[in-house]
Amino acid sequence: MKTIPARKNILDRYRNKRVILPIIISVYLIATLFHICFTRNNDKIAILGFHNVVRDEVKQQEYPYNMWVESESMFRERIAYLYEQGYTTWTMQELYEWKCGKREKPEKVVVLTFDDGYRSSKEIIAPILKEYGYRGTTFVVGSLVKQADEASTYLSKEDLKDQETVEYYSHTYQLHDHDNHEYAVDRASKQQLQKDYEQQLTITDCSFVAYPFGHYNDEIISVLEENSVKLAFGYHENRKASKTDHAFALPRFSVNAYTTMDTMKAMLESD
Ligand SMILES: [Zn+2]
Repeated sequence: MKTIPARKNILDRYRNKRVILPIIISVYLIATLFHICFTRNNDKIAILGFHNVVRDEVKQQEYPYNMWVESESMFRERIAYLYEQGYTTWTMQELYEWKCGKREKPEKVVVLTFDDGYRSSKEIIAPILKEYGYRGTTFVVGSLVKQADEASTYLSKEDLKDQETVEYYSHTYQLHDHDNHEYAVDRASKQQLQKDYEQQLTITDCSFVAYPFGHYNDEIISVLEENSVKLAFGYHENRKASKTDHAFALPRFSVNAYTTMDTMKAMLESD
């Protein structure tokens, strides 16, 4: 037999509904906002691209206006800032695993890359990174490594053996060149691109490639794909990399001697 609820019970239920519904809606809105804020930066990563770093006196005397040559003290200031802000660094393999969906990204992580293969990777960059427990990646030009001797500005093959702090990957063997506004990568046939890749393999692991000047075309992408390269990087795009970016066209931020600390902070905090 159906019982009719007492009038008091009906009023209580009505009052509960009036209280519970706004609570549910509020919790839902807060959770949604938290999710948006938390994931806003969390699915993208800043890959910073540096070039040469030299002692302060060398910067002043030999490269005062060369934007691709940074002083040791400026570089140290950037690394110290990352450390103070709680950033960790990722190796190429860790970045690759994230890109494949096999690794979760912590809130504050950056990837530090250095192009061209200057000796500073070994003499200045690696010791500073090691102090902070950081890792970096230097992309070397194979033909320059092969020619390098004790007096060279570039790393020699012997120098590439120690990869404890800085790992070495490919900046192509001899495609780091352009004239009359034409890049060597564009001039090369597919066979030449393949040969360049094979020559570079005699110098270093080529699982990860930074295109010279960040310039690439469909042909070099297909050569890298056919050779099971994992990731390849552009330059100057000045935006974070996301999981949806093409694995052979990952963007990097250009950090050079004219990049102020505020600009670098803006890079790190950008969407
Ligand atoms: Zn380069």
